[in-house]
Amino acid sequence: MIKAYILLGDFMTLYEHKMSKIYIFLFLNILIFLIGICKIKANQFPLMGITIYLDPGHGGLDPGSIYKNIYEKDINLEICKRLNRKLTSLGAVVYMTRDGDYDLSNINSTQRKKSDLNNRAKIINESSADMYISIHLNSVSSSTWHGIQVFYDDVNNKNIVLANMFQEQFKKSLNTTRDVKEIKTMLLNRKIKIPGILIEAGFLSNSNDRYLLRQPNYQEKLADNISKVLISYYN
Ligand SMILES: [Zn+2]
Repeated sequence: MIKAYILLGDFMTLYEHKMSKIYIFLFLNILIFLIGICKIKANQFPLMGITIYLDPGHGGLDPGSIYKNIYEKDINLEICKRLNRKLTSLGAVVYMTRDGDYDLSNINSTQRKKSDLNNRAKIINESSADMYISIHLNSVSSSTWHGIQVFYDDVNNKNIVLANMFQEQFKKSLNTTRDVKEIKTMLLNRKIKIPGILIEAGFLSNSNDRYLLRQPNYQEKLADNISKVLISYYN
């Protein structure tokens, strides 16, 4: 009888040992599976947890640069809308200073432009965004100047790093030979405290730039290249 108990005891110990091994095996497999899912999500949404403030320059009564009936304000907005969709699909939270044809100046303001820029800076500073990107188009009296160029203000030490990353990407993929430029007199960029840059996406005064900037596939390409920089900056 005692021997039978001993045998039963051995059997139970062996059984419990085997079961614990099975549990450990199952636990490890579930863990590996869950890590796999997290990795897939991280790859699919590489900007998850990042908030970007997009700022399409000008709007409303302020058209920005003009060439015949082509207004800078409209192209800035188109580019930002595409960029918004792209960044959102990559997991980022995106805000825009405007999503239609208007500016942000106070009603009856005597200094409309200043009021507009002050309000843009205010809403960006009061947000919890990680970065802002202002989109503009350049225009000069010479029609030969062309290419995309990044401007920054050294209000924080991240802006120069960001500006160079964007400009290098544009040199690689968007056929520009321009270099970054530091400007301390841009009212908006001086006032914004979070990291960010201003992109002059091309020259409205240059015929090739003007043609490209209005093409949906070029605007998408622009959005893709900006997104690539953000992914490598945050990962
Ligand atoms: Zn502009």
